[in-house]
Amino acid sequence: MSSVIPHSERRVQRVRHELKLRRLQVSEVRRISPGYASITLCGPDLDGFTSLSFDDHLKLTLPGSHDEPVRRDYTPRRHDPARGELTLEIFLHGDSAASCWARQVKPGDTATIGGPRGSMIIPPDYPWHLLAGDASALPAIHRRLEELPSGTPCIVLVELADPADERAFESNSTLQVLWVRDRGQWLEALRDIRLPDGEGFVWAAGESRTMAAARELLLQDKRHPLEAMRVSAYWKVGQAAFHEDL
Ligand SMILES: Cc1cc2nc3c(=O)[nH]c(=O)nc-3n(C[C@H](O)[C@H](O)[C@H](O)COP(=O)(O)OP(=O)(O)OC[C@H]3O[C@@H](n4cnc5c(N)ncnc54)[C@H](O)[C@@H]3O)c2cc1C
Repeated sequence: MSSVIPHSERRVQRVRHELKLRRLQVSEVRRISPGYASITLCGPDLDGFTSLSFDDHLKLTLPGSHDEPVRRDYTPRRHDPARGELTLEIFLHGDSAASCWARQVKPGDTATIGGPRGSMIIPPDYPWHLLAGDASALPAIHRRLEELPSGTPCIVLVELADPADERAFESNSTLQVLWVRDRGQWLEALRDIRLPDGEGFVWAAGESRTMAAARELLLQDKRHPLEAMRVSAYWKVGQAAFHEDL
C-alpha cells in the first residue's frame, strides 16, 4: 500500500503558546566554531518552556545602550526539559548588540527570554525536504535535521562566508549538502537544484532580499506550491531586529 499521505492530511499546523517572560541563568558558553557562540540557559523559570518546531523563535532581551533593552529573535536550538537546559546558537557577525553580548557573556550571568509565542509545525513525513538558508538559519537547520525520519531525502543549501563554521550535521535523513560562500552563489545554487519528484517541503530563511528572490524563484521558476513552503527573512541589510515571513 502507498505510504504517500494526501496533502490535506499533511498540512502544517499552527499552535499558539501563552507568552511568558523567563529570567534565566547562563550555565554554559562555548565557541563552537569561529563564528558561533553556543549559550545554554537554565533556571526554575524554564519550567513549562515549550518549543514544538525548529521554525520557532524566542525573544532574547539584551542590555542596550542608554539603559534601553534590545530584543532579538533566536531559534531554540536545543531544549532538554530533563536537564532543565535551553541552548541558543548565536552567529557573531559584527559589533551588533547580540554579537557583542554573546562574545562577553559568561556562566552566572542572567538572560531574559520571551516566547515562543507560537509554533508552525511542519510534518516531518514529507517524502523529501529542502532546507536552505544562511548563518542565521543554520541553528534551525541543524535542529530540523536531527528530527527528520531515517532515510528521508533532504537537500541542504547553506551560505556561510567562513568554511570553518561548517559543522557536520547529525541526521538520519539521506543528505545532499551544498555549502556556498555568498548570497549570489546561494541563489544560483537554489536555481540549479532539481527538486525531487513528489510532494516535498521547502524551508528557507536568511537575508530579506535574498529570501524574497528565493520565494519568487521557487514559486515562478520551480512551480513549487505555496502551501508546501515556508520562506522567512531573518534579518535585513542595514536594519536592526528585522523579521518577516514572506
Ligand atoms: C525567527 C528567527 C530566528 C532566528 N534565529 C537565529 C539563530 O538561531 N541564530 C542567529 O545567529 N540568528 C538568528 N536569527 C537572526 C537574528 O535575530 C538577527 O541576525 C538579528 O538581527 C541579530 O541581532 P544583532 O543585535 O546581532 O544585529 P542587529 O542589531 O539586529 O543588526 C545590526 C546590523 O547587523 C546586520 N545583521 C543582522 N543580522 C545579521 C546577520 N545574521 N549577518 C550579517 N549581518 C547581520 C543588520 O543588517 C544591521 O545592519 C533569527 C531571526 C529570526 C527572525
